[in-house]
Amino acid sequence: MKKIVLFAIVALGCMLAGVSCAEDDLNPNSVIVEVTSEPTPLDAWLYDNFVTPYNIEFAYRYQDMESDMTYNLTPASYEKAVQMAKLVRHLCLQSYDEITGSEEFIRNYFPKMIYLVGSPAYNNNGTVILGTAEGGTKITLYAVNRMDPTDVDLLNEWYFKTIHHEFAHILHQTKPYSTDFDQITGTSETSRYVGNACWDVYATESAALKAGFISRYAATSADEDFVELISIYVTNTAATWSSKLSTAGTTGRSMIEEKFEIAYKYMQNEWNIDLDQLREVVLRRQAEVPSMDLDTL
Ligand SMILES: [Zn+2]
Repeated sequence: MKKIVLFAIVALGCMLAGVSCAEDDLNPNSVIVEVTSEPTPLDAWLYDNFVTPYNIEFAYRYQDMESDMTYNLTPASYEKAVQMAKLVRHLCLQSYDEITGSEEFIRNYFPKMIYLVGSPAYNNNGTVILGTAEGGTKITLYAVNRMDPTDVDLLNEWYFKTIHHEFAHILHQTKPYSTDFDQITGTSETSRYVGNACWDVYATESAALKAGFISRYAATSADEDFVELISIYVTNTAATWSSKLSTAGTTGRSMIEEKFEIAYKYMQNEWNIDLDQLREVVLRRQAEVPSMDLDTL
């Protein structure tokens, strides 16, 4: 029986902006001792494959400072970190490299840090957070120790759709999309369900589709709607996309299609990225996962 997991992807703005600290004379004997750890083979691999080409830090060691203290979290295991590093590179970073023709796009726009947490982050209402992005600078991936690299659907649902989702946020925060987008759903209180309300209002994906949302979470805001359309489109086959549209029925379908048209043109015109091409590349790379050696560096 397939376990159904509710999830929420929460984008947290950095609330620390604008807070400055008064400078006092510091005691030269700091009480904060820097934790040093032995370099591993993964560190060397990451230097060659993340830092040098993209200037991205792939942080797999648990750091209190980088973690959300609201949750009980555990570190990612070394083995899972190795697998995740290879998968993120193959399925996400190199997909964009392939269609843009260079590593520059990722180097310029992708968050500078990917942070791994071994355990999921549970909310009080039973939802679980799979990924967060903060101010365009860092993506956190949770539940890494539960990752099963042989289950591509679950990989997508839990991690790679999340990464495309968060990356699309950075793109629209860099160059805004047309305000026409939000007019399609409408901006009234009954059209958008802020926070966790989307999970209550749309008890099933089918209910959300019929209301013109590609996912339940897409009902949260125009920005979430926009990036859910992009990330779900590029990580699913044309057949899956069509079946979602048929579930949506006449009204839901026309709203989703109209919104997707805006997202598609935006990616094409602003970033020179054809989402059909990106999907083709992402799906081909997904199909390559079973034959990849994910454990040897
Ligand atoms: Zn989001």
